[in-house]
Amino acid sequence: MSTYRAIALYSGGLDSTLAVLTMLKQGIDVKAVTFLNHFGCDISDKSSCSKDPFSAAEKFGFEVKLCHLSDKFIQIVKNPKFGHGKNMNPCMDCRILMLREAREFMDMTGAEFLITGEVLGQRPMSQRRDALDIIDREAGLKGLILRPLSAKLLKPTIMEEKGIVNRDLLYDFGGRSRKPQMALAEEFGLTDYPAPAGGCLLTEPNYSYRLRELLDHEPDPSLEDLSLLRLGRHFRMSDSSKIIVGRNRNENESLLLLDAERSVSLRVEGYASPIVLVRGNVTEDSLSVAASLCARYSDARHLKAADVKVNDSGRVYTLTVAPAGEDLIEKYKIEKKDKKKALIRA
Ligand code: SF4
Repeated sequence: MSTYRAIALYSGGLDSTLAVLTMLKQGIDVKAVTFLNHFGCDISDKSSCSKDPFSAAEKFGFEVKLCHLSDKFIQIVKNPKFGHGKNMNPCMDCRILMLREAREFMDMTGAEFLITGEVLGQRPMSQRRDALDIIDREAGLKGLILRPLSAKLLKPTIMEEKGIVNRDLLYDFGGRSRKPQMALAEEFGLTDYPAPAGGCLLTEPNYSYRLRELLDHEPDPSLEDLSLLRLGRHFRMSDSSKIIVGRNRNENESLLLLDAERSVSLRVEGYASPIVLVRGNVTEDSLSVAASLCARYSDARHLKAADVKVNDSGRVYTLTVAPAGEDLIEKYKIEKKDKKKALIRA
């Protein structure tokens, strides 16, 4: 049994699991690290979100450590050296950050090298040949990152040159097809793996639009603000004030839970109603808009006037307002506009 050890960037998805199994087959001791961020998932192999990094680890007997990138990740989202992808996803910087963190783990555990499940050409931004070279250099790990699934399409690493890893037993997978990976999974007896996913929340156009809008008004958003971006309809009142309207019962519950009574909340009495939060600076105007939005998205929307209960730090009172019309919604809603619709309207 070899005493060589590798650290794997591991999501629990198909590609990173295959990378680990390929190394285990060569007798390399693998310790896996799953990186988490505030935007949904890690995807150290880009084939899947890390829904369950532990199931394959248990089945095949390797260790997984979870590591949250926390504020370091937020900083690269705000200001990525290599820019954003199509949306707010700073994939190049994200991978460099994960590798730098993994390097620390490598040094701590006395591991010799890193592995990832990346497949050459699978993703446009971070898995081109030149991008991989830049990532390795920026992470200070040139020659020390082995990508077992595409190794035969890439320059030999130090581990292959030294004979620590047998290059002949590595693969030449490239491009977007998953067929070779699925065939290899069958060989390894890996039957239970998640379907491929597109990436973290930052790859979603609507979430990215909201995030960009938030950063334009609040350069240092709280974690709570970032989490709230996933929920409800959002309306901008001023630089320091926003209204959020829950879209269903689950969102209403999550809004109340996340907000923990820090904001003024509203709901229509006697009708099915959204929870509405007024975040930040509360003015008479913002309260009145929040109340009419609350009425508009409740079952009282057909009434001329609805009673909206306001809870301001335990002080409870009622505002009677007309449900908001389209013009009010249009004026304040934070929404990525469909270019075609905008042109037709103009
Ligand atoms: S999609 Fe990009 S930014 Fe998001 S976790 Fe994956 S590599 Fe990082």
